Formats: sequence, C-alpha cells, structure tokens
Amino acid sequence: MRADNPPICKEKLVLPELEHSYRSVVLVGPPGVGKGTQGKLLSKIPGIFHISSGDMFRELDVNSDLGQIFHDYATHGKLVPDDITVKTWQRYVNNKVKQKVYNPETDLLILDGIPRNIEQVELLSPHIRVLKVLYMVCEDREVMFERIRGRAIKEHRNDDSDEFVVRYRWDYYKQFTEPIIDHYPQELVRIIDADTIPADVLNQILSALVPIQKECFSPPKM
Ligand code: ADP
Repeated sequence: MRADNPPICKEKLVLPELEHSYRSVVLVGPPGVGKGTQGKLLSKIPGIFHISSGDMFRELDVNSDLGQIFHDYATHGKLVPDDITVKTWQRYVNNKVKQKVYNPETDLLILDGIPRNIEQVELLSPHIRVLKVLYMVCEDREVMFERIRGRAIKEHRNDDSDEFVVRYRWDYYKQFTEPIIDHYPQELVRIIDADTIPADVLNQILSALVPIQKECFSPPKM
C-alpha cells in the first residue's frame, strides 16, 4: 500500500454508525468492459463476495411482480427505478447474510452494476462503506460492442441482441454512471486498464483488493 494512503479500516470498531454498513468495493465500467468476467473470477476467491445487480434481477421469478417490472425495463435497455433497485438490493444482501453465504465480518463485498447513478450512490450510502472504486476503462467502444454481441449469443440475453438497446445503454453509462467516479473521494479511485487480456485485468484488480482484504478482514488462509 502506498505510504500516502491512510489506513482505511482501523477505526471501524469505534464508529457505531458504521456497524451495519457493508464494507465494499465498487466496480465501475461501461457495458461490455468485462465486469461480468472479472466478477465471476473474483467470486471464486475466499473472503470475497460478489454481487452483480444484473444477475440479482435476472434471478427474480419472471412471474413475480418484481420479475415482470424488471423484464419490462430490461428488454428496452432501461434501468429499473432507483428506489426499487436499492430496496431489491437490500433485501437480496440481507438474505445472503441470513443464508450465511455472505459474512460481512470476513468478506469484502464487490458491487458490480450498482450504483449506476448519483441517486443510487446516495440511496446506498447508509448501507455500504466504500473502501475502493475500481474504474474499468477501455477507450475502444467498438471492442465493447463486439463483446456484447458475443454475449447476446452465448448467454441468450435479449437486452444484448438489439443494437439500439446496446447503444442506449452505452449513452446512459456515459451520461449518468461515469460521473459517479467524481462523486467519490479521488484517493479511493483506482483506474483499471480493461483493454487487455482478462488475466492482466484480474491482476490489476487484485493488486487493489489484496491490501484491503489483508488490512480490513481476516480471510481464511489456505
Ligand atoms: P449491462 O451492464 O449490460 O447493462 P446488467 O446485467 O448490469 O447489464 O443489467 C441488466 C439490466 O438489469 C439493466 O438493463 C437494468 O434493467 C437492470 N439493472 C441492473 N443493475 C441496475 C441498477 N443498478 N439500477 C437499475 N437497473 C439495473
């Protein structure tokens, strides 16, 4: 860890108001940048719990009211309203804690796909303590569109198969998601070059996460 980075977790036990805020790292990047690939790899690591908001919604029963709401928004590439999203997220995380698949005492939470805009940053802020923001950058838009087209076929995702929807999501990202980077203290933001092979991206991400895990958690040793 760089000498100018203040210790991030030492005070957690003496700040009661943070008791119930999940210690988190936020992954930010445009659709197709590789967040999903990295999320899957990270979720295999002991002491890391990864939540993708897209997967969270896709897991909903399509016949439930919420499942229907999601379906109506997602097929048009539209985001689910912020209050519904954050409430769904809260319920989802709380369930994971109850089911003992996520232990906030020992696991670092990785958020992928949420928060998506400033409103969500604010709605989530009482519930999470952001330890790092990993900003995945790939300047070549066409590389990402190509990845999304591949994903549409491989994962049978309707929302990825419509070119108009894909471009709409990209515009949304540029207009509303990217600006959340400026909303966080800049010392928490780490740029990840995503225009390279997955192993290299993972390497960069881990070099940001491992010091946090060591400093703030006691992950099981192998
Ligand atoms: P992508 O990153 O390609 O947009 P996701 O898998 O993250 O795909 O999301 C799929 C869909 O799930 C979105 O189009 C949206 O309808 C819904 N969704 C996911 N995350 C959020 C969020 N944070 N806020 C609102 N809607 C969301």
